[in-house]
Amino acid sequence: MPAVKSPTLNPEPLGPEQRSTIDDIAAIMRSAEYTVAMTGAGMSVESGIPPFRGADGLWTRYGTPPMDGFSQFRKDPVGWWNRRTNEKIDSHILELRDALTSAKPHAGHFALAGMERAGKLKSVITQNIDGLDEKAGLVNLIEIHGNRGKLRCLECGRRESLGDIVPLFAPGPCDECGGLVKFDTVMFGEPIPDDVMAAARAEIDRADCVLAIGTSATIRPASGLLWIAEAAGAKIVEINPTATKLTRLCEVSLRSTAGRALPALLNALT
Ligand SMILES: [Zn+2]
Repeated sequence: MPAVKSPTLNPEPLGPEQRSTIDDIAAIMRSAEYTVAMTGAGMSVESGIPPFRGADGLWTRYGTPPMDGFSQFRKDPVGWWNRRTNEKIDSHILELRDALTSAKPHAGHFALAGMERAGKLKSVITQNIDGLDEKAGLVNLIEIHGNRGKLRCLECGRRESLGDIVPLFAPGPCDECGGLVKFDTVMFGEPIPDDVMAAARAEIDRADCVLAIGTSATIRPASGLLWIAEAAGAKIVEINPTATKLTRLCEVSLRSTAGRALPALLNALT
């Protein structure tokens, strides 16, 4: 199994040009009244979690899972849960489960939590399901694709934290309403829960500065929020090792990993 490259294993110091760009970002955040961050797979990769897409991506190596996962689940929820305990469970699920179980937040996660505590960052909207933002101490967090450590009722939206337990059989109906319960993680073909989408949209509507961190800005509808923010006049700042299709919208783009850039940004702000 190929090892996943982790940029934090071989960190290069920030160069003078990158430091100057960090000062520019700090200046934008200081003049902003409401800064929100949107984070993507790049944040998780630095904690050793393989991405789904790209050269090293799980789906590139193992194949893309069926696009109708949510309707399969709805048709036969007990069968779906039973298949997860079967030895023939997809290799990509096993690899992801192992990586998620051992993953820890990195310096970038802790720096975002530090910015929130210092009042420099109002919230984080993450596309990641790993729960590492919460573990790093972030409070105002919107997990737009759900959290792999929680269960969610499809009827009333009630969530239950699993801690480190991996359920091996179908959970019973919701304690509140009797509805069907699934992992909180949003499946292919499953709409983002209304409460989560509304919370994300409310943050974007308030924001006059949005940091796009470690995201290729290609996964809808999450990425669409960045275009909505830009159209409404918010300043968009990108922190990503490579250019993305978002780059042309950005006031400033910093070519760096989150693990290197965000601690330096926190220093510049405080
Ligand atoms: Zn319920």
